[in-house]
Amino acid sequence: MALVAKRGVKRGEEVTNTYGPHHSNMTREERRGRLREDYKFECGCEACRGGYPTLEKMQQVGSQKKKKTKTFE
Ligand SMILES: [Zn+2]
Repeated sequence: MALVAKRGVKRGEEVTNTYGPHHSNMTREERRGRLREDYKFECGCEACRGGYPTLEKMQQVGSQKKKKTKTFE
């Protein structure tokens, strides 16, 4: 396997790679379940700690805000 960085990497800087599941298309429970099953660890990434929403959820919230805005215009 070879990795190519898109920017300079400082000596000692941590280099990370995704395991696949992404918060935009899987819920926290789905991601953590997949990682637990496939890689045998409990994910503690920023998205899991912060409860990042899926893209679908973000779009739902966005469309609700638009509707509310129109209501008050
Ligand atoms: Zn995570």
